[in-house]
Amino acid sequence: MTQQKVAIIGAGPAGLQSAISLAEMGFLVQLFEKEKQPGGHLAHWHVLFPDRQPANEVLDALMISAMNPNISLITGAEISAIEPSGRKWQLKKAETLICEVDAVLLASGFKLFDAAQKEEYGYGIYPAVVTSSELEALFMHQKPWPFNENLESPKIGLVHCVGSRDAKCGNLYCSKVCCVTAVKQAIELKKTFPAAQVYSFYMDMRMFGLGYEELYHQAQMEYRVQFIRGRLSEASPADGQRIQVKAEDTLMGRPLKLTLDMLVLMVGMTPSVVLGNGSASVELKKPMFADGFVKMPGQALDDSRLQKPGLFVAGACKGPVTLPDVVKDAKATALDICNYLTEVL
Ligand code: SF4
Repeated sequence: MTQQKVAIIGAGPAGLQSAISLAEMGFLVQLFEKEKQPGGHLAHWHVLFPDRQPANEVLDALMISAMNPNISLITGAEISAIEPSGRKWQLKKAETLICEVDAVLLASGFKLFDAAQKEEYGYGIYPAVVTSSELEALFMHQKPWPFNENLESPKIGLVHCVGSRDAKCGNLYCSKVCCVTAVKQAIELKKTFPAAQVYSFYMDMRMFGLGYEELYHQAQMEYRVQFIRGRLSEASPADGQRIQVKAEDTLMGRPLKLTLDMLVLMVGMTPSVVLGNGSASVELKKPMFADGFVKMPGQALDDSRLQKPGLFVAGACKGPVTLPDVVKDAKATALDICNYLTEVL
């Protein structure tokens, strides 16, 4: 019997896990990644919440399982169109046919919010203002710290909800993972600079996952991170490369002014589903939410199939999600693809 083929777009955790599950079921998988390396954002993360497991351990485990003869990983490959062809789907780059398959899984993940859009925080202008993703690179020693590492007691601020829950930038949704990421990063900062004064400016703390609340408690009680409810109004240059921030502590009802050595912007997730201008994008654009994430026909009971037979979606291109939920969704979607392919056989 001819092996049925599935194309997966995106080799982040959702694409890798779906590919592994489908390959183990006996399907031939072509896994397309537009970057030079697979792994998505996981490849650029230091440790994970809530247990601070090294991100490279998780990625290495996925990559080892993906060394399956049924999987072909093609990196540096941008797909610009997905078009129906009878009961099959054709993937194209410009007008060139790349492959024809029995099902397509869109697992293109998310992009991080562009912090430069929040001009009031001075990202891209002041070197002391970095994003949460850049802070991960600092933890991995891939960049120099933006302040003198020998400072006795650096002052560091973290700002929540940058690009999320913000009508001004058009993103009303909560990005779900950045509160716990801020807590994890605040602890990592205290481990790196034990005498640092770390402040976390939040709107409200959304610590919904198992172990998250405990981590938040640990950050306050053991690491003495100061959580301040209030949104920063602006950041401006102070002496040297330092940053002055103004906020209102809405619990205490008083204005605050602090001079910091580094300001970290907790950037939210934004959609990354961008396929070219071909007819495929019409197939995929129809079910978009206004904010650009893919809207599934039945979110409660049918969370992986688009209305077109053979077209599936997994992971963060449906909306903000944690890594464990991405992996579970990828496994469930692989099973759904298997059911579909068995039906059409
Ligand atoms: S998870 Fe927290 S920081 Fe992220 S958008 Fe939601 S409330 Fe804001």
